[in-house]
Amino acid sequence: MVSRFCWPLITVLGLVGLAPGLLGAQEEGGEPALWQTARELRDQALEGTEAYALVRSLTVEVGPRSAGSAGDKAAVRWGQAKFQGMGFDAVRLEPVMVPHWERRREEGAIVAPYPQPMHLCALGGSVATPPEGVEAEVVRVDSLDALEALDPAGVAGKIVFIDVGKMERTPAGSGYGPAVQPRGRGAALAAPLGAVAVLIRSAGSDTNRTPHTGAMRYADGVKKIPAAALSNPDADLLAAQLDGATAEAPVRFRLLLDTVNHPEEESHNVIAEIHGRENPEEVVLIGCHLDSWDLGTGAIDDGAGCAIAMEVGRRIAALPQRPRRTVRVVLFANEEFGLSGARAYGEAHADQLALHRGAVEADLGAGRVYAFRSRVGDAQLPTVQAIAALLQPLGIDYQGNDAGGGADLRPLRQAERPVFDLRQDATYYFDWHHTANDTLDKIEPAAMDQNVAAHAVLVWVAAEVAEGF
Ligand code: ZN
Ligand code: ZN
Repeated sequence: MVSRFCWPLITVLGLVGLAPGLLGAQEEGGEPALWQTARELRDQALEGTEAYALVRSLTVEVGPRSAGSAGDKAAVRWGQAKFQGMGFDAVRLEPVMVPHWERRREEGAIVAPYPQPMHLCALGGSVATPPEGVEAEVVRVDSLDALEALDPAGVAGKIVFIDVGKMERTPAGSGYGPAVQPRGRGAALAAPLGAVAVLIRSAGSDTNRTPHTGAMRYADGVKKIPAAALSNPDADLLAAQLDGATAEAPVRFRLLLDTVNHPEEESHNVIAEIHGRENPEEVVLIGCHLDSWDLGTGAIDDGAGCAIAMEVGRRIAALPQRPRRTVRVVLFANEEFGLSGARAYGEAHADQLALHRGAVEADLGAGRVYAFRSRVGDAQLPTVQAIAALLQPLGIDYQGNDAGGGADLRPLRQAERPVFDLRQDATYYFDWHHTANDTLDKIEPAAMDQNVAAHAVLVWVAAEVAEGF
């Protein structure tokens, strides 16, 4: 950790290098307290925050919390209770109807030519197999395009294995997009060809025998067939047996999934607010999603993001004066299983969306932030540059005005409201995400503090600067 006495000098150098004159212009504009507070929020967070303790509490006292489950309800109570002790002006629950899918049992094995047990998991939303399972010959494809091109005569009655290769590891997590396609659409494309089940290679960059789950979707009017993900080593093993298979000695696989699609349940977006002192109707939002998958304890996805968002709110609420605008911390319900929390937020706040003056979501794990992106009008770029200058000493580079915003910010993106990305280092995120290995030990407390420092600067300035986003 860098001593607090070093920061002002580094900051000055950062300002000179990155945004000559811009921050000076802001300060000459009569807002030195705004920037001074931003620096203090940043530097004090680096000395230690409550973020790690919060994610520890969530993973230890609640743990798995997939939409509609008892854990989901416990997480909502947890979030509400934590918020109530944090100095906010208002804490409330907003109802969200969510799907409720339950995993009960999952087994698989290669039964021929060389019998071996397989490590796999059902994809979220998958139907069950018959109680005795399904056993069939395996047909392999290396892409969804190749799947769609298959002759149904060669697929009918078989299990389709979609192996697009192992996900590429990058700091930005850019390998995830291509790797995840078979998970969402594989079953819907294979079923019309007569397949009895789908296996995919896990969308993950690890070499562990921990399969990655995640949401899959059926298509209207298409038969629902079971779908499971093999761990990367198990996908390798199946692929190796397929490499040596012949028409006389094909690879046969047995899959047993016991899953239940329950009726929808009520969950909640958990919301805490610091009321703006001058423009309380204007909102700066910091969010995360409170639900997780069922296999791990949801530490990195997205307990870490919730801890960061809550701690940022707590620290701004502890300042001697309320910011100009309202700061709203939102723990979104059910991101994983179809974004119902985001949708409900968009509907409940439809006539208020235009009053959102900046939003950010932390949902890429617990790694350090290394990049900052904005999506604002040209007139607001000088303020963005001033924020970028404050973030640079944290090792964060400004990367342009094309931020995507998190998945839960979609209603705000669609309403063309300003959104920001504070990109976390996701080099290892996709080793653990959506697996039983998503646990607290993957989180480094100092990286959480750096996240809090970065998010606090952004949220504070957006809520306080005279000319808002
Ligand atoms: Zn997530
Ligand atoms: Zn996720």
